[in-house]
Amino acid sequence: MGLARRNVEEIRPYVPGKPVEEVRRELGLSGTIIKLASNENPLGASPLAVKAMRKALKSNNFYPEDGAYYLTRALAQKHGVGEDQILIANGSVEVMYYITTAFANPGESVAMNDQAFILYRIVTKVADARRIAPPLKNYTHDLSALCLAVEPDTKVVFIANPNNPTGTMNTQQEADEFMAGVPPNVIVVWDEAYREYIDRPDYPDTMKYLREGRNIIILRTFSKIYGLAGLRVGYAIAKPEIIAALRKVRVPFNVNTMGQVGCLAALDDAEHIRRSKEVNAEGREFLYKVLSKMGLFYVPSVANFVYLDVGRDSLPVFQAMQREGVIIRPIKEYDFPNSFRVSVGTPRQNRKLIRALKKVLKG
Ligand SMILES: *Cc1c(COP(=O)(O)O)cnc(C)c1O
Repeated sequence: MGLARRNVEEIRPYVPGKPVEEVRRELGLSGTIIKLASNENPLGASPLAVKAMRKALKSNNFYPEDGAYYLTRALAQKHGVGEDQILIANGSVEVMYYITTAFANPGESVAMNDQAFILYRIVTKVADARRIAPPLKNYTHDLSALCLAVEPDTKVVFIANPNNPTGTMNTQQEADEFMAGVPPNVIVVWDEAYREYIDRPDYPDTMKYLREGRNIIILRTFSKIYGLAGLRVGYAIAKPEIIAALRKVRVPFNVNTMGQVGCLAALDDAEHIRRSKEVNAEGREFLYKVLSKMGLFYVPSVANFVYLDVGRDSLPVFQAMQREGVIIRPIKEYDFPNSFRVSVGTPRQNRKLIRALKKVLKG
């Protein structure tokens, strides 16, 4: 028995990658190292965000504006909801902690597909709730299995659409069937971290469920297409009653000044978003073409990363790729022992990735 609470002892911690400079030092590498491991925007931050933050740098002696007033107002306008329907946090992952803390009593259940985004598992343990997790089907959330798995004490269901680490999405029809089947008191979390990358007409309009008065929480983030992962800003959209409960458990001043200022400016940067989407779509096509030629199994993705199976233990491949100056994400903790989640980079980065992969897999 350790010192911590039993549920805390049971948490399998989230394992982030090492800093690029540490990798360089440890392996004695020279030249560029590219990191395609965390689904970050390879084009960098929105230039409008950078400009706004530069102007605000000197005001960091003050605490941030606690309610993130201007960003909340801008997001409410953007989504056509009230300001009491938005909660901004230190990344959408922070909202996930608030969700289980606010809504699940110890021992009650929280449902998700197994091999869904790993943080759902962690925040369930943090609340000492019980995890229900039917398997994915064909690398995709199985919403009918998930619906059937819901039990009388289920408080929250987490759905990553598209899923991380598999990059697959559920359609409007699947979402509609799920929402029709799930009891109305269950809070359904639609995590749409990659939403802005997706053009497909069958991507679910989850705002519809909100307008119908359903208990849903939509999660969005500035970490992906906006290129602002370092600022840690994500947010929830839900009915006022749900937002009010989340606000009660919120850490004061959780959204820092740079985050508020930078994200507000990034909202207006349509050009950066357009280019990010374009570079990503082209990069994905390039990777598919080459990976197919190499005879490697991958899962077509709607997001800015691709699930790739190298057909052998991913750990030595990971290490060899690092020595080639390319960092990609093994996903063993998702029980995919031979696979990687590879972020789509710039054309140049994608070519370097493929060169390294060819060399490593041949060796
Ligand atoms: C990247 C990602 C997020 C974003 O988390 P932030 O805390 O906002 O950076 C959320 N959900 C999923 C599924 C993701 O892949």
